[in-house]
Amino acid sequence: MDIGTEQIDWDTLLEVQDLKVSFKTDEGIILAVNGISFSVQRGQTLGIVGESGSGKSVSTKAIMQLLPRTAVVDKNSSITWHRENGETVEITQLKKGGREMRRIRGGEIGMIFQEPMSSFSPVHTIGNQIIEAVLAHRQVSKQEAREIAIDMLDKVGISNPSVRVDQYSFELSGGMRQRAMIAVTLSMNPSLLIADEPTTSLDVTIQAQILELMNQLREEFNMAVIFITHNLGVIAQVADEVAVMYLGQILERGTAKEIINQPQHPYTQSLLKAIPRLDHLGKRLTAIGGDIPSPLERPGGCPFHTRCEQAISGVCDTQIPTLTPISNTHTVHCFLYE
Ligand code: SF4
Repeated sequence: MDIGTEQIDWDTLLEVQDLKVSFKTDEGIILAVNGISFSVQRGQTLGIVGESGSGKSVSTKAIMQLLPRTAVVDKNSSITWHRENGETVEITQLKKGGREMRRIRGGEIGMIFQEPMSSFSPVHTIGNQIIEAVLAHRQVSKQEAREIAIDMLDKVGISNPSVRVDQYSFELSGGMRQRAMIAVTLSMNPSLLIADEPTTSLDVTIQAQILELMNQLREEFNMAVIFITHNLGVIAQVADEVAVMYLGQILERGTAKEIINQPQHPYTQSLLKAIPRLDHLGKRLTAIGGDIPSPLERPGGCPFHTRCEQAISGVCDTQIPTLTPISNTHTVHCFLYE
């Protein structure tokens, strides 16, 4: 698909408007997500990229209502889930752990994490965990659920699925476990899959296989994906659109082609310069200077001004850049383009 020229016109599945999440800590209030807005269309993969502490995982945990008790979602934030039958559900208004939220979490929205070991029960077989998930979300018999489990293990590329189905997670390698985790999640037939750094703990070859598998399955199941990573190189392989986050804000958003080939924001440009490339062997990688400021001491003005080599003194440190469109699909928050 030529994502650079194609207008994205799928139906909207998820709409996040002005999401703000803060945490109460002994040192004070930390604003982890500062008013982000984005939407995800059916069948689309949105990549959210940023360093740790950028608020990308907190944002998706807010969607799944998986935030800890110390987190506060601002009352003006809105997270709207659009079902295929036309129903809309305001997730921020749902009771945590209530029936409707359980229907969404795990059933309509699935999630996979960096370390699948912690997501599996060590005392139940992989198959039983898939069967349980299928029975909770689909109207099928136990025998049918077992057949679905074997079929899913086969689909995610696990050899001998009818044997593996009766094994435990500790009997599988890291890459196999991540495949099995994807099988558990997909067996519930979600419309949206949230993948939080799913390949970070895997070696490069297995990582490439899992990314390829996710692309295949997404097409086969016509599923939307939110793919969270700190690695823009990974994003290039999976995403249609990319949102670049820093200190709880989206600084740039565009198609994957726009973000990778024509990055506009100085932060995105720095992230790209920090990726090792085979055609740059022997050249030094350019690390981003300075550290991410503590969220307890958020800088005024543009959040990136303390590390930006192009910062305009007296402007970037005092004023907040507004959203500037670069193209129909590409926007940036930076005074260089206002
Ligand atoms: Fe740099 Fe200023 Fe743009 Fe922020 S607004 S990224 S400080 S040039």
